[in-house]
Amino acid sequence: MLKPKVLNMEMSQQESQMLRVFGRAVFRPGQQALLRSALAGRNCLGIMPTGHGKSLCYQMAAAMLPGRTSLVVSPLIALMREQVSYLQGLGMAAYRYDSTLEDAEREALLASLEQGGVQLLYVAPESLENTALQQALASAKLGVFVVDEAHCISEWGHSFRPDYLKLPRWCSRRAFHAIMAFTATATLRVRADLCAAFRIAEEDVVSISPYRPNIFRRVLGAQNRLSALCAFLQDASHVPAIVYARTRKGSEELAAALQSAGVDAAAYHAGQPAELREQLQDDFLANRRSVLVATIAFGMGVDKPDVRSVVHFNAPTSPESYLQESGRAGRDGAPAVSLVLLDGNDVQDARNRIYAAEPDAEGILRASRWLLPAAPSVVSLWELGTTCDVPEDVPLRLLTSLQQSGYISVEGRGYKYYKAKPLFPINTILDGRGAEEIAQLRWLDAHREGEVADVADAWGCSYAVAMQLLREYEQAGEWKMTFRQQALYLVPQVGGDARALAAELSAAYARRREADLERMHTLLDMLAGSGCINAALTHYFTGDSPIPCGHCTGCLGEKLSIPAPVSLPLSLPAESDLPEFSRDSQRRRFLLGIASPGLMARRLWAHPHYGCAAAASWQEL
Ligand SMILES: [Zn+2]
Repeated sequence: MLKPKVLNMEMSQQESQMLRVFGRAVFRPGQQALLRSALAGRNCLGIMPTGHGKSLCYQMAAAMLPGRTSLVVSPLIALMREQVSYLQGLGMAAYRYDSTLEDAEREALLASLEQGGVQLLYVAPESLENTALQQALASAKLGVFVVDEAHCISEWGHSFRPDYLKLPRWCSRRAFHAIMAFTATATLRVRADLCAAFRIAEEDVVSISPYRPNIFRRVLGAQNRLSALCAFLQDASHVPAIVYARTRKGSEELAAALQSAGVDAAAYHAGQPAELREQLQDDFLANRRSVLVATIAFGMGVDKPDVRSVVHFNAPTSPESYLQESGRAGRDGAPAVSLVLLDGNDVQDARNRIYAAEPDAEGILRASRWLLPAAPSVVSLWELGTTCDVPEDVPLRLLTSLQQSGYISVEGRGYKYYKAKPLFPINTILDGRGAEEIAQLRWLDAHREGEVADVADAWGCSYAVAMQLLREYEQAGEWKMTFRQQALYLVPQVGGDARALAAELSAAYARRREADLERMHTLLDMLAGSGCINAALTHYFTGDSPIPCGHCTGCLGEKLSIPAPVSLPLSLPAESDLPEFSRDSQRRRFLLGIASPGLMARRLWAHPHYGCAAAASWQEL
């Protein structure tokens, strides 16, 4: 049992003044404790449900450390933009640093950083590697280092991100006043990982119970999920609603089916053009559209307080994602519903996807050989992913451990291929330039397309310099450059055993698969069991055992059993009718219709037998 903590203390004059600047009269539970830890120079961790107000804690801390630059690391670019414009509106010197900045903006920002003119800087985790940014920060006086979505650092977390592993080392090398880590969901294990990584003492952890009394948690075991959903959405008190589907295709099909049933629904997913997504978002926020059928990527950064229901049309796969997604309902505090539709075949599909997400040993071994080249080389991440047929986090994790053990160094980031088109007659471009530049530009004019590595060879410079020169020529407005395939320039150092490295990573992925299956199992027990869903969630996240909520499916005694999967006799096409696969996992993914980089590159989704055994289970194939 964790000991209860006094969360609210009497406010100081400075605190209440500062709260007023942020348009608030009082702190919410936990905010003040975290603020005080950080200001006192103690690292701290805030575990708070989405919408509870974690950003106020670090924004106030940054504002109360005058003359210092605070950093917020967040993977959510949309959220960064929103917060930066909000803070600038309050008169704070807040900015963001990410890959979408224009060159002029970036330079102005770096200059201002060096002079200490930035109070709060939002950065994407991958941008921390940027040398120019590091140099600018070296001359600034540092405030708090904020880690948003901090659970991503833990392998036990539900959305582990390899680039988060570098954060503890990165910030420990710099003189930050304090570290503030935040997450909406952390189990006791993830919480322990976080405290160890960022050296946070138990008394500086603030954990707010995830229970939200205004959310009514419902679970329906339905043979016909679509008609159950239509009936639910036709009740006016259940809209505006967000309906979650598992895949982009699924969200489009479901939105179309709802429309033909007379429900005002639209699909929303990351595969749509940005303008369309913005339009859909605006319509939804302004209540011109009552239902969005989204993949789980939606909602990151979109804050609509009056969502009356969140529906999981496909089973959520972990208590973490279920809590986070359903938590988008009823942020205004008025009654709202979280509905989960459970179906045996759908649960089996979710389980298949967990197996399919585990890269196989062969793929990992190939990828680790690729990243341990015998001689310096330019490696395209796309080529690596499709040829080795591994998800994109495999090369990232391999790179992280290769760099940390000193086996390779990354000495340039850019692209593998370029295309150059002069925008003026070549003699006009050459006019007034020095001999060396003339030779380079003549070569470029004669080789308008190719690999950046060849440019480096021809010009007698490094890959990094060749990338930089190509970009400079483009910026001068005389050439149009098109780059393809993001790439790294890798220089092997001493040692490095690809086989051992691959074995270690395979074991880590196997552990993750087991943990994912266990989490899904735990969630299904909570949803389909007879107990209180809210009490089970609170116990899972905090270790506390609260009394039953009295208003969820479990408490109301609407006991449920998940309909068993309808299993059809498995009849597979003749092997000769299938494409050739060198690995068993590729064949299974193809039969189940679960995409992978290799299958996508071979355009196998268009094959007549792709997904022909979607109703089968991973193991029986
Ligand atoms: Zn209950």
